[in-house]
Amino acid sequence: MHTACFVDGAFVPARSGRTFAVRNPATDAEVAQVADGWLDDARAAVEAAARAFPAWKSIAAIERARHLRRLAELMHRDAERLADLCSQECGKPLAEARTEVAYAASFLEWYAEEGKRVYGETIPASDQAKRLLVLRRPCGVAAAITPWNFPIAMVTRKMGPALAAGCTQVVKPAEQTPLSALAIAALAAEAGLPAGVLNVVPGLDAASISDAFFDTLHVRHVSFTGSTEVGRILLRRSAEQVVRVSLELGGHAPFIVFDDADLDAAVAGAMASKFRNAGQTCVCANRFLVQRGIHDAFVERFTAAVAALKVGDGRADGTQVGPLIDDAGLRKAEAHVADALARGARATTGGTRARVEGCTDRFMRPTVLTGVTPAMTCFREETFGPVAPVCAFDSEGDALRLANDTPYGLAAYVFTKDGARIVRMSEELQYGIVGINDALPATAQAPFGGVKHSGLGREGGRQGIEEYLDLRYVSWRVG
Ligand code: ADP
Repeated sequence: MHTACFVDGAFVPARSGRTFAVRNPATDAEVAQVADGWLDDARAAVEAAARAFPAWKSIAAIERARHLRRLAELMHRDAERLADLCSQECGKPLAEARTEVAYAASFLEWYAEEGKRVYGETIPASDQAKRLLVLRRPCGVAAAITPWNFPIAMVTRKMGPALAAGCTQVVKPAEQTPLSALAIAALAAEAGLPAGVLNVVPGLDAASISDAFFDTLHVRHVSFTGSTEVGRILLRRSAEQVVRVSLELGGHAPFIVFDDADLDAAVAGAMASKFRNAGQTCVCANRFLVQRGIHDAFVERFTAAVAALKVGDGRADGTQVGPLIDDAGLRKAEAHVADALARGARATTGGTRARVEGCTDRFMRPTVLTGVTPAMTCFREETFGPVAPVCAFDSEGDALRLANDTPYGLAAYVFTKDGARIVRMSEELQYGIVGINDALPATAQAPFGGVKHSGLGREGGRQGIEEYLDLRYVSWRVG
């Protein structure tokens, strides 16, 4: 297991010599002591990335693609080990961690190809003696700040397009889950990635590490996935070096079920969207808006499915819902449930902590709340836990108003068979991602990202690589 900073192609201790403990949220067992990187470690990483940039941007895109593909192959080879590490760090069930490894590798595979298609443009000139060209050039060193809920995929989702574009990168993984990022770094070294192209600086003091991203002109792009609060800090800081940022921030996804929906598909979608990673994903359904005609049938089927979920240690056989990441996460989900119950909601299943033999008390019974109203906290804020608040509505207009009445705008889901309604909802929902009869829309080849307080920029798709490219206009007088 690699536990040191990865800088300039080598694993090195933090300059301070300090380390910090990474613990399994299910058991509190120490997984490893990890280097506690700080500003000077991050500066060294940025300098290494800046030194590696001229050569990396100059090799053929097809050669960069080979590196990315090789790394993806090694991730598949080591999928079981990576999944186990991921589950230990963040508590998610092993089956989900395995899916995450494949999803993570898909960003490297897809961008290995997309990097070959960074085409330029010629523009007809008014002056016959001139030729006007537009080049798309890698912007420089890219910094990535990643969250704990997808410790592998959030790294490769930023790394695939950055490296394919010809940028070099410094990654600051979440303090809860640095080991997965360091494992990727080790595989990158094995894949023959030149020193300095990828660097990873773990550490407890995220603000001091990120200082290194804003005190130099080398870093030209900062990609962040995490809370809206920290996103705002980074957006403010980006003014210092006029650096581009992409922000994938909080969500508050509505999951809308119309009377004409396929009930089986809606319940299956609700389960997949809500309980993945114990409800700790930014695209998780955070409130269920269910039309009155199908409401009772939906609640009955959904409650039965939720009550049957197996809660446990992510690494134990058959676990479907693991622990919350930490005590604060548990307390927030509990507070949302308590507030809803106090204001008149009813728990049709769950609502309390779950006891898991030999584990911490950081587990919550998957919960369905009915009779939820917009006055309740769970209807207004992201819960980030295994809690499904259900609110009944009458008309399509009501559903749209309720869905859009939030500062967030990441993902929304709609279950219906009505084609005209699908068009209306796709156009009127103020969200960056809309799943129509589809609870899991995220995929490497599509642009993922939000509007309003959910963020700026897109990851994935042909759009995702644009973030790392600068346009250069060349005016060439030939005569
Ligand atoms: P969460 O609440 O889900 O942990 P955060 O936004 O706090 O989300 O964390 C997401 C990432 O941002 C993590 O890597 C974390 O270390 C980092 N981070 C937290 N605070 C700051 C900060 N002030 N500056 C830069 N990065 C930060």
